[in-house]
Amino acid sequence: MAKTKFLKIACPRCGKKQIVYGKSSSRVKCTNCNKLLIQPTGGKTKIRAEVKEVL
Ligand SMILES: [Zn+2]
Repeated sequence: MAKTKFLKIACPRCGKKQIVYGKSSSRVKCTNCNKLLIQPTGGKTKIRAEVKEVL
């Protein structure tokens, strides 16, 4: 069974924390300042934010 990982990340620009799915196939932007936090790059997910916690 595949593990689903949720990550608590903090926006490097404004510090807003949010919980995202670690293998998201779509872009995730900061809900506060709209900075791109998660960028899928051909199967791999690039996290451009600080990971605070793995849930
Ligand atoms: Zn932000």
